[in-house]
Amino acid sequence: MMKLKGKGVCPGIAIGIISYFGGSEPDVSFRNIDDTAAELERVEKAKACAKEQLAGMYEKALPELGRESAEIFRIQCALIDDRDYNNAVENMIVSQKVNAEYAVAVAADNFSAMLSAIEDDYMCARSADIKDVSHRLIRCLAGSGEKKFHGGKRIICAYDLTPSETFRMDRDNVLAFVTARGSSRSHTAILARIMGIPSVIGTGRELTPDCDGKLAVVDGAEGTVYIDPSPKILEDAERKLAEEEQSRLLASEFIGRETVTKDGRKIPLYANISSVSDLESAVKNDAEGVGLFRTEFLFIECGEFPSEDVQFEVYRHAAVSLDGKRLVIRTIDIGSDKKADCFGLAHEENPAMGYRGIRICLDRTDIFKTQLRAIYRASAFGKIAVMFPMITSLNEVRKIKEIISQVKNELRLLEAPFDDNMEVGIMIETPAAVMISDILAKEVDFFSIGSNDLTQYTLAADRMNPAVDSFYDPYHEAVRRMIKLTAANARSAGIRTEICGDLGSDPQMTEWLIRAGVDEFSVPPSDILRMRKNISCIDLSDKA
Ligand code: PEP
Ligand code: MG
Repeated sequence: MMKLKGKGVCPGIAIGIISYFGGSEPDVSFRNIDDTAAELERVEKAKACAKEQLAGMYEKALPELGRESAEIFRIQCALIDDRDYNNAVENMIVSQKVNAEYAVAVAADNFSAMLSAIEDDYMCARSADIKDVSHRLIRCLAGSGEKKFHGGKRIICAYDLTPSETFRMDRDNVLAFVTARGSSRSHTAILARIMGIPSVIGTGRELTPDCDGKLAVVDGAEGTVYIDPSPKILEDAERKLAEEEQSRLLASEFIGRETVTKDGRKIPLYANISSVSDLESAVKNDAEGVGLFRTEFLFIECGEFPSEDVQFEVYRHAAVSLDGKRLVIRTIDIGSDKKADCFGLAHEENPAMGYRGIRICLDRTDIFKTQLRAIYRASAFGKIAVMFPMITSLNEVRKIKEIISQVKNELRLLEAPFDDNMEVGIMIETPAAVMISDILAKEVDFFSIGSNDLTQYTLAADRMNPAVDSFYDPYHEAVRRMIKLTAANARSAGIRTEICGDLGSDPQMTEWLIRAGVDEFSVPPSDILRMRKNISCIDLSDKA
């Protein structure tokens, strides 16, 4: 048995077989080979495996992203059969007697360089596709691509996972995530929590590809992983699983009830989602709506800019699924650890402080207006509100409102229906926004506290950097004062304060946050019923 200790970022027990995920940039080493026929056969098998994966991804993306966006997987499937690309791979194997991985990588580099030299957006996108396809083929050649997400549920282990890799996993087949690296405030960890999948990060380098295929126990609360567990550990894990099921049953008594404190204060409780596939879990856990839809994952998943119609379909579908309950759509917060290929963002030394969120939107107003048009069109189909991330100034809010009125005028001219009174909110996640929250409160309908970023910017501690984890303290008095000041200014202006950052689902903080003036909570779907139960025990008439 091997015990690994890391940081638990999503509680829960998992028992199952490990599948080691190779990551997006596979290592390719050069080898001379003798049996060229066998090497060509390996290529054919890898092509079949890659095509099967892409076909699966197309089927998954179709209902979530619409036909236009799902098409990317078909295009990639067709690239696998591209005659010139295949000839290049075959020629290299036969004439230079090199291994298949190397031939695939070199051919892909050559083709992608050729395509990106043509100054054309379409060709540029295909150049990235060739790279993507070759990585997939190489993983299939290494045998790491075939079984990964097929044939049953697995514990996914990896050196690290990017948010897009996590997002693309077939969540129904993932029992747990375990990574050697990672930060608990990264969007990878946030996605795991939204999916409600037990996760442990930062186990260190002892987690190696050798663990593939082995039995493991993951404890997402303790942050421990046992590979080849002893009978005693297995027995304990099975008991804990049964207990978890029992507490789920207890919490399910709160389905269909209002979220209300013991002394009768109603506290609306919403779900955080990152795609329409999270809606099912939000509805199942009886969320009173969605308080944060992180729309950037739609752009990350698509690989290209989703058109207005694709976005409209996604937002309309979400609004209709919520059947009249509130849906807060946050405009794209691209940048920092959430990179979408289509933006082609330059490398930054300090991306959290850099070009991200609303800064990109107010610069690329074409992309911003497209998203806003889609959101406003969808507002005719449900109770939608729009929210903007990373606000630091009044000027930004004024510019946003100006663009909103342009979008509304365009829709009026087209006679497209929309909700003229749709609520407009902003995220309070920078100290600047807190300090001018009295001014900002007069401009918008609600605030939503993004405690993840607010903590990182208040304490100057990069949420992605495990080395400064001990400085990243969301309980710090400075963060508490930021929250209190925001809520007090909101109250004076007669608007509501919500919280959608991770602190909102921290059971230790619920009562404190309500007493500090937070009116509404948005949390991962799997936390809803537990939160409702906890809130029902809080008595605000007691002295704090
Ligand atoms: C936050 O910063 O708390 C937040 C909710 O936004 P994100 O985690 O997506 O940056
Ligand atoms: Mg944020």
